[in-house]
Amino acid sequence: MAGAVAATAMGAMAAVNVIPLPNKVVEGDGALAFANPGAVAAAVTEADDASIPAEGYRLTVSDAGIRIAAADAAGRFYARQTLRQLTTPDGKGVSVPFVTIEDAPRFKWRGLHFDDCRHFFGKETLKKTLDAMAYHKLNVLHWHLTEDQGWRIEIKKYPELTVKGAVRPGSPKPKVLVRPGEPSERGWVNNHIPYGPYFYTQDDVREIVAYAAERHITIVPEIELPGHALAALAAYPELGCTGETFEPWWRWGVSEHIFCGGSDRTIRFLEDVLDEVCALFPSSIVHIGGDEAPKKMWKQCPKCQARIKALGLDGEEGLQGWMTRHFTEYLAKKGRRTIGWDEVLDGNPGTGTVIMSWRGPQGGIQAAARGHDVVMCPIDPCYIDNPQGLKDDPYEYINYGFNATLERCYGFDPAAGIPEGQHSHVLGGQGNNWSEYTWSGSEYEWKMWPRMSALAECLWTDRANKSWASFRARIPAVRTALIRQFRMNAAPIE
Ligand SMILES: [Zn+2]
Repeated sequence: MAGAVAATAMGAMAAVNVIPLPNKVVEGDGALAFANPGAVAAAVTEADDASIPAEGYRLTVSDAGIRIAAADAAGRFYARQTLRQLTTPDGKGVSVPFVTIEDAPRFKWRGLHFDDCRHFFGKETLKKTLDAMAYHKLNVLHWHLTEDQGWRIEIKKYPELTVKGAVRPGSPKPKVLVRPGEPSERGWVNNHIPYGPYFYTQDDVREIVAYAAERHITIVPEIELPGHALAALAAYPELGCTGETFEPWWRWGVSEHIFCGGSDRTIRFLEDVLDEVCALFPSSIVHIGGDEAPKKMWKQCPKCQARIKALGLDGEEGLQGWMTRHFTEYLAKKGRRTIGWDEVLDGNPGTGTVIMSWRGPQGGIQAAARGHDVVMCPIDPCYIDNPQGLKDDPYEYINYGFNATLERCYGFDPAAGIPEGQHSHVLGGQGNNWSEYTWSGSEYEWKMWPRMSALAECLWTDRANKSWASFRARIPAVRTALIRQFRMNAAPIE
């Protein structure tokens, strides 16, 4: 083995200081030494082995060298991520401990939700995030692109979306702490500073999608409908029920002005948008939102009421159900599945629609029982914009009544409460990093890490192999790598 020499025995620290923890590890006695991490990567011998599960790999480090076997490119990639984490500084060079690892993920959807709407973070933060996700074997970035507060993706057929829809007249001032029991509105004091225009051009989107694909990450775009639509209505008022003009919202919350479900023009607009979205994103699943859609305007709208009557729908909820089914069928013709927030279950969508359970686990439990595939991200503990319970947190502005601590995140199990026989419906889970109370990319990263490291292990490592004590011992080194190798901000570990 050129360039490799036997190294001293490992110290007290576990040799396999890897997150997410591989599922089967046999530690050897010894290590290989190299001049630098590039020499480690160059020394790898790769082989195909069709018997290894999808995304899985076998990694052997011994005095015979470094060998990787996998059935697919993702498996080879993940083996190299494990190798990267196993490589530690040693004297003037680096060393890799002797080990045999056989590994494959528990879930196939290992996600992070990225909200570029309330605040906009841009390509550099996104790329850093994709790098750090790959390091953790996370493979889905759910990209929240449309909101009441901003429309962030260029749509060629509707240019006003990113002219009028991508800039808002102000934002809530930061650093107004809202204490438990106080309404969140208490923190909404307008700074009157125009925000934007901020959006991604179609070239930007293609660049990000390609960057993610190189890291075996699928980007699932989200176009919210029928709610959280005020930025679109600001650009094209005729898409709403009343036709009145708006500006994108400066404050947070849920607007009662939503897309008109009775207007054929609005339906056509959304189809056109989804056409361009499908051309940009190869993802087999497209998110169509569906959460927090107040029906006040639909109750008063002649067009909405006419559609309910003509189709014999069960009121306004039935109309939202019709929209979910309509766009599910529309996207199915393009070979795509839809995913929606758990509210879409109220409209009885077909089982082809994947349900994203956010209000708690119960939406996902119910959906799996009804035959839907589900992605679990219950607000507790997967909403990592929640305070993390640090003694002194410079970025805590609002208290939701509980802390999503690192340990609480580590306790997440996407399959909890779902009967064994329905586990095949659990695609996986994700951490959701909303950005209302996050004013900069640096703050956004602070909330993401190291809690996403904990969630990554929940999504990859089998339950029986997980241990908080072990994770707690491994996380400091990974946090240091996030800061040094990925230029990430990361919260301290207390
Ligand atoms: Zn309407």
